[in-house]
Amino acid sequence: MPDFAISPPAQPSVAIVGSKARFPVRRIFCVGRNYADHAREMGADPDREPPFFFTKPGDTVIDDGAALPFPSATSNLHYEAELVAAIGTGGRDIPAERALAHVWGYAAGNDLTRRDLQAKAKEMRRPWDMGKGFDNSAPCGPLLPVAEHGHPDGSARLTCAVNGAVTQETTLDQMIWPLPDIIAFLSAQVELRPGDLIYTGTPAGVGALKAGDTCVVAIEGVGQVSTRIT
Ligand code: MN
Repeated sequence: MPDFAISPPAQPSVAIVGSKARFPVRRIFCVGRNYADHAREMGADPDREPPFFFTKPGDTVIDDGAALPFPSATSNLHYEAELVAAIGTGGRDIPAERALAHVWGYAAGNDLTRRDLQAKAKEMRRPWDMGKGFDNSAPCGPLLPVAEHGHPDGSARLTCAVNGAVTQETTLDQMIWPLPDIIAFLSAQVELRPGDLIYTGTPAGVGALKAGDTCVVAIEGVGQVSTRIT
């Protein structure tokens, strides 16, 4: 270990179902517009575009049940219910046929978004970082290990509920680019490493959260992540 001039930052991590051990997080990659109905609601053409990616810092992850103080600099905080895949084996130029062997586990995630800042960035052709990668912007439920539970079915329901009312509902097979293709495209752009999380995109129905709301993203057979806005 080198002699650091200041205390090194804490290692971000997420919980694991049935284990006291935690999964260390390196980078967080997110897929944009991966469900046709959401692409349309954001004013985009879902049919032609290859997947594109943005990132959040690894230390934006927060656990299931975390209380999130309403973020600064926004008046339009949105939830986005997503399947999260955790990479256990890294690689570059991973072929889609072998991509799922690189996945260590799955979780329910919420790609929280300061929609007003993102919209302004789009309009001004500026980066999305401040709209997407703000503090505590990546709630992630406990990871369900593939070694014990396998991969989720395409027919699994992905839902978001705000204060108990369902706001988003789809099945995982509605992704435009399924996970093997996402991993193939992404690993052609950057080398994936153990500890990387991939947020795989959200379906239609995104909307705003306010202080006092509880937002629960749930995926059948995978788990859930609950976030309370304070
Ligand atoms: Mn998203």
